[in-house]
Amino acid sequence: MGTFVTLRLARAGIKVLLFEADPQPNSAPRAAVYTGPSVFELQRAGVLDDVRALGLQNSDVCWRKANGEIIAGLDRGFVPEHPLNPVTLDQFRLETVILKHLEKYPNAKVFWNHKVVELEDSAEFATVTCETVDGPKKYTSGYVIGADGGKSTVRKLIDVKFEGFTWPFTIGILVCQLSVNKISCHECLLSLP
Ligand SMILES: Cc1cc2nc3c(=O)[nH]c(=O)nc-3n(C[C@H](O)[C@H](O)[C@H](O)COP(=O)(O)OP(=O)(O)OC[C@H]3O[C@@H](n4cnc5c(N)ncnc54)[C@H](O)[C@@H]3O)c2cc1C
Repeated sequence: MGTFVTLRLARAGIKVLLFEADPQPNSAPRAAVYTGPSVFELQRAGVLDDVRALGLQNSDVCWRKANGEIIAGLDRGFVPEHPLNPVTLDQFRLETVILKHLEKYPNAKVFWNHKVVELEDSAEFATVTCETVDGPKKYTSGYVIGADGGKSTVRKLIDVKFEGFTWPFTIGILVCQLSVNKISCHECLLSLP
């Protein structure tokens, strides 16, 4: 979200600094599937063509057991040639596309290895303190946008509660490549009971 918002602001001619705690884009498996409203936003940000070129333009999706048996599936409403058709591209590669586009904007700067640890607010501007390999560094700006995930430091620093509940179990995710004998998702749905 941070890189995406940075691109939108940069395209609007606004000077923007992006602080990322990690030394490079995170390749952990997260988002992968973007449907109507998200696709519209990717289009508005000018990255949709590149996302489509790298991604999959599939219509249906299903979940299978290791033996190929279908557990569940859904039709994501693919309409041939519709500009807002769903697209599948892992978040890491989506971020790589956005970062590539950001290179065109000298008014945007990405600071890797910059972990936000403090936030001060005054009537005129906000000051962000980042932990860096060269020690703490301070930056001032008219606005600060927190896009630092579910455990957001920015949210905690401005004392916004994250209300809800925690499930009493952990969900594990196994990411692997699996050959399914070239069965298309459409065929999967057709064979659903
Ligand atoms: C397994 C999984 C599958 C998902 N599938 C989908 C999907 O198919 N479609 C979809 O739309 N969404 C999906 N999501 C949700 C989507 O990934 C999140 O909604 C989205 O990533 C949230 O964006 P974010 O910018 O808030 O957080 P993140 O993407 O987590 O990014 C936060 C960034 O902030 C950095 N950061 C953290 N703390 C600091 C700090 N103190 N200073 C500086 N940087 C910091 C982190 O290093 C990270 O790079 C999925 C999520 C998961 C976990």
